[in-house]
Amino acid sequence: MPELPEVETVRSDLERFVTGKKVIKITIKQDFVKKIQPSAAEFVSSLENERLAGIYRRGKMLVFDFGPNKKVLAHLKMTGQFVFVSPRNELTAGGHPIDQEAGKPMKFNKVHFDFGSAGDLFFNDMRKFGYFKLVGDEEAEREMIRFGLEPHTRSFTIKKFEGILERRPRWEIKKFLLAQDLIAGVGNIYADECLFAAGIRGDRPVASLAGDEIEKLFAALKRIMAKAIKYRGTSVSDYVDGRGNKGGYARFLNVYKQAGKICHRCGRGQIQKTKLAGRGTSYCPVCQK
Ligand SMILES: [Zn+2]
Repeated sequence: MPELPEVETVRSDLERFVTGKKVIKITIKQDFVKKIQPSAAEFVSSLENERLAGIYRRGKMLVFDFGPNKKVLAHLKMTGQFVFVSPRNELTAGGHPIDQEAGKPMKFNKVHFDFGSAGDLFFNDMRKFGYFKLVGDEEAEREMIRFGLEPHTRSFTIKKFEGILERRPRWEIKKFLLAQDLIAGVGNIYADECLFAAGIRGDRPVASLAGDEIEKLFAALKRIMAKAIKYRGTSVSDYVDGRGNKGGYARFLNVYKQAGKICHRCGRGQIQKTKLAGRGTSYCPVCQK
């Protein structure tokens, strides 16, 4: 699933193409109708002929702003992908690639936003875990405040980090990092990479972390998330950015999907894979304590 850096990359790419444009027509495939809230009919009638004012993001969720009281919350989930086709037929894809010409009519096109002469935005989803939810401003606000701190931002401070750590003393630190209501946008890739950078094993209880370990983990979250955004996310197998390219962060991975390899840092440990918080977890048994 795309994490904060990947979703942010998709957002910033799409924003450049569709902001300020008016949706002329919206078409929803029959097999995706139940993934549209409050209903496909209301979604279409409320948004047709509206102009897209901007695209925001909280955690892994995208918010399409169609003006006052018309916000669309969208989630890519496992296999969702946005594809923008410009009037000159240039393709811009973000999310998960699908082995077909993504902008062409095909069975994985689930939602089509027709921007008339300005181009077309398609939402493709092979496994149909993605969704769209049209909400008013108040509900959008309520949905947004459910998310925790955004780790790459200035408002993520060591004080706030310590504050949320104190709320979950008995949780395993890996589970803590994945909790979207505490820290927004960190998924399996960046949780494992941050724990490696901080030298901490994912099964440690939060309360067992020493002061210098908390500082290292805080610094790792800030640095790694910012760097991953800069490099347009990580492509391991299934993610492409808003330009249809693979994310550039994959070359910096130290543990995620590296099981069996010898650790770059210590040159001795063999990267292990185990299961924590229900997720595959990779770590170096030498570097991480
Ligand atoms: Zn190591």
